[in-house]
Amino acid sequence: MSVLSGVKHIILVLSGKGGVGKSTVSTQLALALKEAGFKVGLLDVDLCGPSVPYLLQLEDRDVHKCDEGWVPVYADSDQKLAVMSIGFLLKDRDASVVWRGPKKNAMIKQFLTDVYWQDIDFLVIDTPPGTSDEHITVMENLKDLPCDGALLVTTSQAVSVEDCMKELSFCKKANIPVLGVLENLSGFVCPVCSECTNIFSSGGGKSLANLNNIPFLGSIPIDPSLGECGEKGKSCISVKPNSPASKVFKDLVLTI
Ligand code: ADP
Repeated sequence: MSVLSGVKHIILVLSGKGGVGKSTVSTQLALALKEAGFKVGLLDVDLCGPSVPYLLQLEDRDVHKCDEGWVPVYADSDQKLAVMSIGFLLKDRDASVVWRGPKKNAMIKQFLTDVYWQDIDFLVIDTPPGTSDEHITVMENLKDLPCDGALLVTTSQAVSVEDCMKELSFCKKANIPVLGVLENLSGFVCPVCSECTNIFSSGGGKSLANLNNIPFLGSIPIDPSLGECGEKGKSCISVKPNSPASKVFKDLVLTI
């Protein structure tokens, strides 16, 4: 029996570019789902740039083995958020992972077949930017499993939106339903006067969603407190419950 057979929902988080906030979205989504009472797994398949251990402040933790497989790292004492990342397996945490495709594929396959997630409601998979070996291996190993679909993260800039189109095309080719588009780094709200300045262009994520007939899941502005959440391993909903980011993640939990 597959170690994933107890998983009820699988959600992929994709972005065309790096640095658009994909790992932040994956982590905050996992935390929001946990706070809503679900049991959650967060799998970081970004082998060359694993950020999840840092964003949850779990960098000093290790995985160990039991009879059923690898025991993931739990982010909390009540064991409601299980996390797996290559970051937990590297002896030298600052070492670069310079692997060709087959080695990466084998590692991801192991993540999907050997981690003992137990009965979790949601498995959120944080992928590297683009559409590469990692994505293909994930999809090959998710066959016949309950993959709800992909959440696409972009900024509003044309350069990110264009790459996000490639993710859409990948989803079509791989037959993955698209849950929707989330626009991150979408303007900066002045903490003094509350005026929103669109530092980059605005509305790119929404237009992408409208043009392709897929749901638009909301905009998250540049918010220093969101960056701080990553430095403390906290959820924005618990730190700043009324912020635009918190609203987006609360709505996401209700939507997915
Ligand atoms: P990616 O996974 O796309 O490479 P990350 O999620 O690692 O991007 O985010 C890159 C950096 O930007 C991190 O330091 C993160 O805290 C910060 N960040 C992401 N989204 C926001 C936001 N909306 N406001 C402020 N900082 C953000």
